[in-house]
Amino acid sequence: MHTGRRFAFRVSLAACDLASCELLRTWLGVGTITHAPRRAEHYDDEVTYAVQAIPDLVEVVVPFLDEHLPPSYKREQYVAWRADLMAYWDDRARRRRPCTVAGCDEPRRARGLCRRHYYAAYGR
Ligand SMILES: [Zn+2]
Repeated sequence: MHTGRRFAFRVSLAACDLASCELLRTWLGVGTITHAPRRAEHYDDEVTYAVQAIPDLVEVVVPFLDEHLPPSYKREQYVAWRADLMAYWDDRARRRRPCTVAGCDEPRRARGLCRRHYYAAYGR
């Protein structure tokens, strides 16, 4: 089930702080680093560290932020975001049913089968 909800954890830093982004990525072990060219002549190039995979957000980013984000307005925003994320995660986990082929963990699409097994059984 895809509701179209998107969640992401992003940190944007000037390119001179690339080391900080790499440290964060190494520390957490998830996410990606992207480089965006400067938006204007007098800005630095921007480096963004982002985590978008829901399991990575739930299992890695949330515990990290729970522990490290000090009480602040940012934390209040985070707590609201976390509530949305967790509600979405619970809902998705409840509705997600795996393919009926033994050992296959892909989500069901049709006739109890994931996309690959459906096409294998019924052709395109
Ligand atoms: Zn399957």
